[in-house]
Amino acid sequence: MTIAREQNPVDVLFVGAGPASLAGAIHLARLVKAHNAKNPAAKLDDPMIAVLEKSAEVGYHGFSGAVMDPKSLRKLFPDFDAAGVPVESPVTEDEVWFMTASRKLKLPITPPPLQNHGNFVVSLQKLVAWLAQKAEEEGVTVAPGYPAAELLYDDQDRVTGVRTTDQGLDHHGQPKGNFQPGMDFLARCVVLGEGTRGTLTKALIQKKQLDAGKNPQVWACGVKELWKVKPEKFKKGRVIHTMGFPLKADEFGGGFIYHLDHNLVYVGQVGGLDTHDPTFDPHLQLQRLKTHPAIAELLDGAELVRYGAKTIPEGGYWSIPRLYDDGVVLVGDSGSLLNPMRLKGIHTAIESGIQAAETIFEGLLAQAGQDPAPMPASLLAGYEQRILNGEVGKELYAARNFHQSFEDGLYPAMFFHIPLQMVTGGRGLHDRYAAVPGYRRMRKLKDKFPDGRKPQSDFKPDGKLTFSKLDDVYRSGTKHEENQPPHLRIADWNICNTRCKEEYGNPCQHFCPAAVYEMVDLKGNGQTELKLNPSNCVHCKTCDIADPYQLITWVAPEGGGGPVYVGM
Ligand code: SF4
Repeated sequence: MTIAREQNPVDVLFVGAGPASLAGAIHLARLVKAHNAKNPAAKLDDPMIAVLEKSAEVGYHGFSGAVMDPKSLRKLFPDFDAAGVPVESPVTEDEVWFMTASRKLKLPITPPPLQNHGNFVVSLQKLVAWLAQKAEEEGVTVAPGYPAAELLYDDQDRVTGVRTTDQGLDHHGQPKGNFQPGMDFLARCVVLGEGTRGTLTKALIQKKQLDAGKNPQVWACGVKELWKVKPEKFKKGRVIHTMGFPLKADEFGGGFIYHLDHNLVYVGQVGGLDTHDPTFDPHLQLQRLKTHPAIAELLDGAELVRYGAKTIPEGGYWSIPRLYDDGVVLVGDSGSLLNPMRLKGIHTAIESGIQAAETIFEGLLAQAGQDPAPMPASLLAGYEQRILNGEVGKELYAARNFHQSFEDGLYPAMFFHIPLQMVTGGRGLHDRYAAVPGYRRMRKLKDKFPDGRKPQSDFKPDGKLTFSKLDDVYRSGTKHEENQPPHLRIADWNICNTRCKEEYGNPCQHFCPAAVYEMVDLKGNGQTELKLNPSNCVHCKTCDIADPYQLITWVAPEGGGGPVYVGM
């Protein structure tokens, strides 16, 4: 059946209303205005700039640590302090704790990458909601509730736009009474700012081999809770990072405790998805972190407010894919532009949006007066040059071997590789440390647990300090229309219920932080089978990344579904 779809021509289309896209849209709108004011005889037609967002309100899917380096935002808003940028608190003190299960050692000096003087604790949700308002004031169209389903290409394989998801399909993909076909947004340039593991970005990178010759991307999963603590335990702007417990020495990651404002505190744990352990459970690691006496004491008498999870592209400099092709550029996390050593990606995302806008503005000038056509890769290559040779590239180059340093575990990284990299400008033993995709490092049960030990946690949440995944998902505000096509696509269920069960023990039931994957005795014959609860999904993308057979594809559900990360 051919579906008639509404065609919406725009000039520049940003996909994903995160900090990269919104900064890019604001800067581009201002560049055109400034040009037209200076060049009345050679004015550009007012370009149509649009930002599509999958969540119901801008910011609802915005989720990050988050301590922000404000330098890029200050470029967009030189009057930063008066502009009303929503920050929770300036960072007032920095600590790093090395932890065992019962003790902690505060490092006498905070390592330079974790020093946060001049930075701010922020809620990404509030920040992007504010940026969206600023973008609209500049004439940008911001459209929440429109998830992008796929990129559109012309007969020369140039990106020409984006198709949004169909709305009102039932579980079998049949139209319901409220069916509305997805729309086609056609643009001279599509800016992919989907955040971590974007669906369109993943497909584009594969189709155009944008990662050829690069290190494979490696990821971590960050799980965070927002708590309201007793006033006497609260220190506005206090930032603590932890190493060690609850992770094992061969696992990458760490914890964080950020004090915001109004007695609110983020408590989070990041765990590498390149672990060997098929039973690795990021949500469980956060629960265990909170049982440490120092953290349990902070949370004594506190109230859990919110919960969420996201994946983090950790590969850094060597994993940056080619950032452009005909008609398209990648910004922010979609372009692997997070600095894993500083645990920061908001400022690099904003900077990438600004640099994308500079290049696209040149494209608009070059195409002025012509019929709309995809901006050529030769022109958009300038964006990649701006990134690699500019502030972002310099910062990421200095951290280029950070994540790979943990290949042999925490201690070789902490006492050898990273100190060596600090004194060699990021080089270490050699210029480029290799990486392998995390899912290839996962070991089979018989190799990881040769004694046959059943890898089951005996951890029992107490409902006060520690919580089950379902309790936490409830606090993420996650909601999806139940009767819609599954947004988690499994390429081969047979493998899930046979080989994966036998070889890896279905790691999805462990690594998903929202209890979407369950092994259940569906037929009552004593044999468990995989069952999905997609309505729990908090859109972290861990399953799309960590599945050892790469059978799981996450696609955007109907518009507006997903978590509601207010204050996160
Ligand atoms: Fe994350 Fe996948 Fe679980 Fe959704 S189903 S919460 S994307 S791991």
